Amino acid sequence: MTTTFSFSQQLYIDGRRTDGESGTRVTVLNPATEEPIAEVPQAATGDVRRAIAAARTAFDDGPWPRMAPRERAAILLRMAEEMERRLPELVAVNMAEAGSVRWLAESIQTGIPVAHLRDMAERVVPTFAWDRPVDPFVAPGIGIAQGQMRREAFGVCALISAYNFPFFLSMMKLVPALAAGCTVVLKPAPTTPLESLLIGDFADAAGLPPGVLNVVTGDVEAGRELTTNPMVDLVSFTGSDAVGRMVYAQAAGTMKKVILELGGKSASIVRADADLDGAVRGAIGGMTVHAGQGCSLLTRTIVHESLHDELVERIRAGLAGVTVGDPSDPATAMGPLISEAQRDKVEKLIRTGEVEGARIVTGGGRPAGLDKGYYVEPTLFAGVDNSMTIAQTEFFGPVGVVIPFSTDEEAVRIANDSPYGLAGGVWSADTAAAYEIATRIRAGSVSINGGGAGVNPRVAFGGYKQSGLGREWGEFGLDEYLQTKSITWSAR
Ligand code: NAD
Repeated sequence: MTTTFSFSQQLYIDGRRTDGESGTRVTVLNPATEEPIAEVPQAATGDVRRAIAAARTAFDDGPWPRMAPRERAAILLRMAEEMERRLPELVAVNMAEAGSVRWLAESIQTGIPVAHLRDMAERVVPTFAWDRPVDPFVAPGIGIAQGQMRREAFGVCALISAYNFPFFLSMMKLVPALAAGCTVVLKPAPTTPLESLLIGDFADAAGLPPGVLNVVTGDVEAGRELTTNPMVDLVSFTGSDAVGRMVYAQAAGTMKKVILELGGKSASIVRADADLDGAVRGAIGGMTVHAGQGCSLLTRTIVHESLHDELVERIRAGLAGVTVGDPSDPATAMGPLISEAQRDKVEKLIRTGEVEGARIVTGGGRPAGLDKGYYVEPTLFAGVDNSMTIAQTEFFGPVGVVIPFSTDEEAVRIANDSPYGLAGGVWSADTAAAYEIATRIRAGSVSINGGGAGVNPRVAFGGYKQSGLGREWGEFGLDEYLQTKSITWSAR
């Protein structure tokens, strides 16, 4: 079924809607049907520059960075209310452009980011320690030195996000950036621009001053402009580590602050005393939530050798009950991948796993009876050594690997034997032992006995190692969009 949407899908620059300069339009496909659902203008470099200039003027001369936090909070709260009012529309757009099943579209994709905005506006912004007095210091030979520490908005921020959780990822950046008093240019991924373009409507309805939020489309060229333009002070990027490396290099020329939220190959350690029901549920979720297109999903299951065969069999049996298909059907548990290119990448990696000698326990192909849509069967590999490509490379598809261990030491070593460090998990009845292991996993978020990353916006989220730099969410996330200034004065 093709869905069309009536909200404006034009670029949003300086508080106005525009088709931009290029005259080129990009078709947005529903990944479940391969049918077009919208055509959006492709932003030209000139449009991106105008958006950056609008953000610069709004920052340098506009009211937003200078407003009292309570005034900013009131506008952000109005924005949250507007999002709440139009939540059903957001959910529908998300299901159509990202291929989310409904529960995911209503929770992580839209409900949680809107609740995050409300929480930030109501609880954090009004009480945050924006200015801090400093005790006087007796400076020998000088006298009493006095001063103040201020936290000021960082400036113009380029926010570049990935395709898998389009609204969620854009909001993870937008909420703290706006709360801090920054002005922004937001660029969503080219396959999923609609939810970010819709945010322009929420800004208008809330009375956000023009130029504070700008939304452009585009891909590499737009991304290059955003990360090299001297008027931009900060880049916050979510995407692959390959592009993240380019962004880091591109931003170096003008010494921008860079926040990078990149990929993962996160491990879940299942100890011999684990609740196997929970561990099986966790492993199946790690493979099938959003068809495996989640950066922090636990896709490497590292299991005590005594449980290996039983766990593999139970995951296999569980996956047999996962209904794959049209995400708009309430009976569906797992939808499609975003595009043909993404499906090709996942299928090639599956073949690599076979060539390297791992064993496909279940899946490996395309689900029967689905002629349209970018579907891949949930696929489980056993007989995996952690050095294999399939244990080291992010699939971003519904594929999991199981690796046995014999001691906790070995489990931690395998978990940490990865270029990434985004998330991790431990399953054990001995919560003290699980906690000890959690402290040793080199990753930004570790869960114990379930309750994975990505649902609590009051805790920080981000990567160790090549999973990125900086943190999003909560007060840690807000801090990234502030810089510290000292103002000192003479006591004489
Ligand atoms: P991607 O790296 O292909 O693209 C991300 C964004 O970068 C897009 O908006 C794209 O247009 C833009 N871009 C491309 N080239 C650019 C350039 N040279 N300069 C600036 N911008 C450029 O990622 P994707 O396929 O959209 O998303 C999947 C990846 O994102 C996965 O690796 C996943 O793990 C990661 N991800 C990470 C997190 C996190 O929070 N750590 C969350 C979601 C997704």
